[in-house]
Amino acid sequence: MRFGPRITRITLILLVGVLLFGAPTLSQTEKTDNAQLYQALLDLTNSWTVMCVAAHPDDEDGSSLTVLRRKYGVHTVSLFSTFGEGGQNAVGPELYEDLGVIRAHETMAAAEVQGSEPHFLGFRDFGFSKSAEETFRAWGEREFLRRMVFQIRRLRPDAIITNHDTTSGHGHHQATGRIVLQAFDAAADPKQFPEQLNEVSVWQVQRLFVRTRGGDTAAAQAFAIDPNETDPARGMTYAQEALAGLQKHATQGPWPKTVPASGGRVSYYTLAKQAPNAPPLPAGAKTPLNGLKLPERLSERLIAPTIEGKPLTDFADRRLEVLVSLINARRRGAFTAPNDVMALDPQRFKLMSSRLDKALAVATGVAVNLNPEGSALVPGEKARIVASLSNNGVGEIQIKQVNFHGLRADTPLNVADKMLPGTETTARIEFTTPKTASFTVPASEHLYDGKLFGEPLMVNAELGLEGITFNAGTEIYSNVAPAVEILGVEPAPYVTTPATSQKPLEFKVKLQNHLAGAFRGLLRVRGPSLETGREIELQPDQIDTSNVVVRSLALTGLMQNANVDITVDLPNPKDPIAKKVVPLVYADAIVVAGRKVGYLPSYDKTLERALSSLGVDAKQLTIDDIAKADLSVFNTIVLDNRPYEAHPELVGLNSRLLKYVEDGGTLVVFYSKTGEWNPDERRNRPQLAPYPIILDDERVTQEDAPVTFLAPRNFLLHFPNRITQTDFANWVQERGLYFPKEWDSHYTAVLATSDKGEPPLRGGLLVAPYGRGNYIYTSFVWYRQLRAGLPGGYRFFANMISYGRPKGD
Ligand SMILES: [Zn+2]
Repeated sequence: MRFGPRITRITLILLVGVLLFGAPTLSQTEKTDNAQLYQALLDLTNSWTVMCVAAHPDDEDGSSLTVLRRKYGVHTVSLFSTFGEGGQNAVGPELYEDLGVIRAHETMAAAEVQGSEPHFLGFRDFGFSKSAEETFRAWGEREFLRRMVFQIRRLRPDAIITNHDTTSGHGHHQATGRIVLQAFDAAADPKQFPEQLNEVSVWQVQRLFVRTRGGDTAAAQAFAIDPNETDPARGMTYAQEALAGLQKHATQGPWPKTVPASGGRVSYYTLAKQAPNAPPLPAGAKTPLNGLKLPERLSERLIAPTIEGKPLTDFADRRLEVLVSLINARRRGAFTAPNDVMALDPQRFKLMSSRLDKALAVATGVAVNLNPEGSALVPGEKARIVASLSNNGVGEIQIKQVNFHGLRADTPLNVADKMLPGTETTARIEFTTPKTASFTVPASEHLYDGKLFGEPLMVNAELGLEGITFNAGTEIYSNVAPAVEILGVEPAPYVTTPATSQKPLEFKVKLQNHLAGAFRGLLRVRGPSLETGREIELQPDQIDTSNVVVRSLALTGLMQNANVDITVDLPNPKDPIAKKVVPLVYADAIVVAGRKVGYLPSYDKTLERALSSLGVDAKQLTIDDIAKADLSVFNTIVLDNRPYEAHPELVGLNSRLLKYVEDGGTLVVFYSKTGEWNPDERRNRPQLAPYPIILDDERVTQEDAPVTFLAPRNFLLHFPNRITQTDFANWVQERGLYFPKEWDSHYTAVLATSDKGEPPLRGGLLVAPYGRGNYIYTSFVWYRQLRAGLPGGYRFFANMISYGRPKGD
């Protein structure tokens, strides 16, 4: 009886509000709030889970994930084999583990848009692979199956969808396509990985679907997801939402800016596997779940609340009526059941019960936030975190208890016992980060140990309203870092050559103080027969770049295979608290005297550093320089990777570059992708080389693939550095990619290479005289070798720069 009158009072407050201030027009925040409430209510109507399995970030079917969650309220999870760290980076200099960290964050951001929940198997992305077998050799087929089975048993999807079949594309895709087929059966088999059963239970997925490329809806057991409907809650199509999600994978761009007028692509799937007793997918199915039924004992306990028989989503703009319905649902025990029934599928009940909590929190306008005051947690130091609870609704909320969990601290928080509408209550969380807590920075060193995002910190509030209880909480991640963190050291590795080995070493060290107070200490550099240091002072949270110069050292020879330790030390005693190790490399590479080089960088500083290591007189060029400057002052111009993609204006300026060659210059052009290079009328792109070169998608992925010298007398192979097989040893990642398939007879092909068992690719390094100058196109990944500090890479690069006549000759 307590219930009725109170609700009436709230209604009254609302009515008075509307009378006083008029019918409100919706602000942007209110629209967002309404979309949030709509989603929370929709989620109450669907207790199914769909998993999307993908090899790399951006391989997920974001369009289907968006439709399943945003239109149907399905619980959607995605499972990625890798972090995609072997890929390329279209927006920044990061590669390898650093790229993996960025792609993991991009995946989280994309998932946020799709409304899905990402999970990672954490296999190392070792770059492009041509077969499932090669992938299995690297990851272990059994280990791959073990990890996927564990995630299926833990996340318990009713259906799985994947873009990957067992035979097409990247070897990682094929391997993922094969393992998901095996995992479907293995997850349900108690004899498979029985040790997992201490932690999770066996799980029978009902159906597994593989995406087909065609529009084959006629196939039996197929469904199609069309993303071109408008999402009533957000006012745009699901295809537009999905594209916004895809664009979050920025390192893998460029992506389309808008959905084409003809609409987003429909996803077609066919059935690959189903559980022994799964009902058949009905004809014309719209989702992978159509026709599935839960046992009645479960389904009768998982019924969504309604108003007059209509779904609550119909009332998303009538918050108070919705709230009454949600309160009643909690009161009558919706989404719970007697223990023996709950035990049949506890996770489904837990999911739906937490979805009801979420709907109650959104409908009451309760928000919970955690705000760390410092930039990271420092072992042995006091943590500074503020928890806040706000009530943006119209009713009074009781606070029963608030608990904080994280880093072995498990503390009840002291807060007010109730919150009036429009008020906030905060609590300062104080605990000392354990001295033994291990660092989670740099994230690139924690890609595979589960600490990639830092340590989880959670707060959960048990709240009361109208005699019911509901939970609201939040989880954030915070890094654990030394008091002063070395964010980066440049250059690393430190490469010298005969022209630079007598020069002082100069390091740029980027530091961040994570303490609440100022830090005073030392920055020191130590290596074989060298040591130097300087005092540093950093204010709280300050980020600073310090230069350290080590002078007057005869380093030739000494430095080969040596390391330099860069440390931040306390002043007294001088104990190091942070350390970075920088490899020193001596490359016996020389450039012909007097060469002046211009270079156009694409995504990183590799060319700048390599030219500096070679002691070359070099100038970084801008697009403006290429348009207007006198290029004839340069003996050689180097265009970095994917130059026409990184600088689209370059296509229009290409004739300037060809004229430069014609007049006697040497132009070195690093690799492009097929679609960025081959002539294309629709893109106004002519043939970019002086004589035709047509690229194909061929790659040589084995970094130790044999290299043969096709033109042994060519200057590129012996002047001024004599190139031998040694220069092709210890390469990183791969030999090259997007090799030319056709080239004009004016070119000399200098090198051939191929993966095991494949015909040789002969177009990886092409050189042709043109006018008085020379044009060099190369698909080899010199930039990866230069960046890694490989002497052979420097020696060959030096020969490319040195190629052609001296200036004024
Ligand atoms: Zn992929």
